[in-house]
Amino acid sequence: MKAPETLMEFMDMYQTEEDCRQSLFEHRWPDGFSCPRCSCDRAYRLKTRPLFECARCGYQASLTAGTILQGARVELRKWFLAIYLLAATKKTLSSAELARQLGIAPQTAWTMRRKIMHAMSRREDELLLLGLVEMDEAYVGGRKPGKRGRGAEGKTPVAVMAERSPAGGLSLAHMQVVERVNGLCLGEAAAAAVAPGSTILTDGWGAYRRLSQLGYHHAPVVQGNPENAAELLPWVHVVISNFKRWILDVFHGVSPKHLQSYLDEFCYRLNRRRERTDLFRRILNRCVRYTEPTTYAQLTAS
Ligand SMILES: [Zn+2]
Repeated sequence: MKAPETLMEFMDMYQTEEDCRQSLFEHRWPDGFSCPRCSCDRAYRLKTRPLFECARCGYQASLTAGTILQGARVELRKWFLAIYLLAATKKTLSSAELARQLGIAPQTAWTMRRKIMHAMSRREDELLLLGLVEMDEAYVGGRKPGKRGRGAEGKTPVAVMAERSPAGGLSLAHMQVVERVNGLCLGEAAAAAVAPGSTILTDGWGAYRRLSQLGYHHAPVVQGNPENAAELLPWVHVVISNFKRWILDVFHGVSPKHLQSYLDEFCYRLNRRRERTDLFRRILNRCVRYTEPTTYAQLTAS
């Protein structure tokens, strides 16, 4: 499937609503139409609406039903451009910036952006970290500066996990909001993101001892002095400090309620940083194929 690698290519490929509909069709039914009710592979195209009518049973299949584009009153071209801009910019765009670029209302841009972010969120069992994995907890947000470390007031605890490549570099990372910084919550965060049998490096905090009961080799590397944690667990610190800077630069901070979505978007970008020219196709595909319809209520649920 051809995908645009530059803004010029994007503009050539998606000049009309029809161009976008054609592309959605190819993402939705890459092997050709298949009726959701009777699996018939022949369909009539309805001229006035983005619907396909099954030639055998008459079922009307919508291009957008069940996708994040369902019920969208925004033109498909604007959706495509929003996805392109989010995929192609290195640091991402805020919804305020999207509203300016697309000429749409801020609230509309906010909802579109939330939906596209939802498509970028991590699926269960996707990209599990494997091998040698650093793990630490971090605290994000809060209005009171100064107090740091475990139990910092008004801040949201986040489990940070980073896989080291064989050469000692950073390969993949995941970040997960945890309710509490204890063995149970940190263990759950690890179980959701790290493949069993991996070696997890942590500092000497007692809560991490539970990892060895969950099928991991647990290797505490820092004893006593927390000052050298950044040297012994370098990648978790790089990941969380880059995340904090990104949040400040682009969004000027986020509320705890939406923090996980931003953690997911950040890691989605980080983990696919070598495939950036392919992100538009990937994100569009996730918007069309792998996402349950999301309502405003679901997006804003805490
Ligand atoms: Zn049918």
